[in-house]
Amino acid sequence: MGSKKAKKILVIDDERDIRDGCGRILSRLGHGVLKAHNGQTGLEILEKENVCVVICDIKMPGIDGIEVLSRVKELYPSIIVIMITGFSTVENAIDAMKNGAYDFISKPFTPDQLRIVVKRALDTLILTEEAEELRLERERNLADLATEQSRIRTIIETLPNGVLVTNMAGQVVLMNPVSQAYLEQDRYSCIGKNIESCIEDQGLCDYIHEVSTCTLNPDEEMHSYELILPEQRFILAQGKPVLGEDGDCMGAVVTLSDITDLKVFDRLKSEFVAKVSHELRSPLSIIHEQLAMVIKGAQGHQEDKSQYILGRAKEKTQSLISLIGDLLDISKIEAGSGEQESITVEVDDLIGKIIEFVHSQARQKDQSIELNLPKNKVPSVEADPIALESIFGNLITNAIKYTPEGGKIQVDISTETGEQGENICVKVRDNGFGIEEKHLDKIFEKFYRIKDDKTRFINGTGLGLPIVKSLVEAMSGQIFVESETGKGSEFTVILPAGQH
Ligand code: ADP
Repeated sequence: MGSKKAKKILVIDDERDIRDGCGRILSRLGHGVLKAHNGQTGLEILEKENVCVVICDIKMPGIDGIEVLSRVKELYPSIIVIMITGFSTVENAIDAMKNGAYDFISKPFTPDQLRIVVKRALDTLILTEEAEELRLERERNLADLATEQSRIRTIIETLPNGVLVTNMAGQVVLMNPVSQAYLEQDRYSCIGKNIESCIEDQGLCDYIHEVSTCTLNPDEEMHSYELILPEQRFILAQGKPVLGEDGDCMGAVVTLSDITDLKVFDRLKSEFVAKVSHELRSPLSIIHEQLAMVIKGAQGHQEDKSQYILGRAKEKTQSLISLIGDLLDISKIEAGSGEQESITVEVDDLIGKIIEFVHSQARQKDQSIELNLPKNKVPSVEADPIALESIFGNLITNAIKYTPEGGKIQVDISTETGEQGENICVKVRDNGFGIEEKHLDKIFEKFYRIKDDKTRFINGTGLGLPIVKSLVEAMSGQIFVESETGKGSEFTVILPAGQH
């Protein structure tokens, strides 16, 4: 800052001794001192030199000190003027102060008096300079801020996605033009209103409230909500809570994206998969049957190697047939066209039959399967028996597949009272390979298979659990898994008793 530099001081006095004396004292303090023997010369020096303090005698021939003061104040308002007065000119000094002089010093004065008055003037000058510097900096910051704010506003306004910001109370704070178009609302009249007044879909309102109040776990993957607009348009809402510096929940930012095209692609893909699977199923089943016949007819006649190759081919066709079966099931569930022929089903009987059916599979691996029933009668459910067979069949065969020889599989059926009434709770437990925690969320995704040393050679499609999950959810039920590597897994299915 300029304040640290040596200051130039101009002494104007017709008395040579005063000029020289002041010059000596102030030079010793490190200041540049200029001297003028009358007002006119002083003013000429000011035109050329960058002076910050003028020390000026009041009484001088020609232009007197008061005149010099008023010219300086007019032409160089930032220069500080100190007047030198005689005994008899105190009144003039008061006049000078009124006209803007910073201070005055009376003749005769000691070097210390001069030093004190000049130091005070220079300190004031430094403070003024610093204040000015701060003011300029603040102005610069405000200008930057204003530019930044308008830039961010423009970006949000022109985003191709909808942006909706709410406060903790669920009132709209910001709505950009794309959100306005999706929600068919006037965005300006929505500001400050509860989202319920601007969004008709109650599910989306509930979702936004949950995000705005941090009810959803922010560490989990981004939650979302799908909004269906007229004419089969799909909008995906994804929200994140806004957290304050101390982690307080302050509201939510929700983006809205049109995913109609993705939905169409997804449907086309499912239809394509369903069609191809359907077309492949019959010829593959024929090949499978024919291979079985060839193997049977040629027993004892063929070399071991050919038998082995035919055996492998039959196994592979069987895997392909299972894959096709799973693909067709999942396509049906996704298209919402799965047969939902609900009848009264006794879940304990159905599970008992599944266990009987897979018993030989378990025996081959020297595994035991145990079914534990509650003391009271298990209530029946109104559901599609094929869907129930698929759910428990998949879970029990998985338990057999992913448990080594000699393992133990347990199926426990119990009842519990939930919020909506009585539930049936089925746990399929094994003491097999178990599942690492990082896979637990993903095993319900389509085609997700864990490939490690133990599971690499086990046949599967990665579609069993997604089918199970979709079917359970279609029955308004829930499925959970708990597992520990090396110890085993436990899949829990909860189904509401009664009608679905
Ligand atoms: P698939 O069994 O056809 O591979 P699933 O969707 O049924 O497909 O299962 C997905 C993955 O979850 C399996 O590949 C396996 O790694 C794991 N898994 C399923 N059930 C169990 C279980 N009881 N024990 C250990 N791992 C399992």
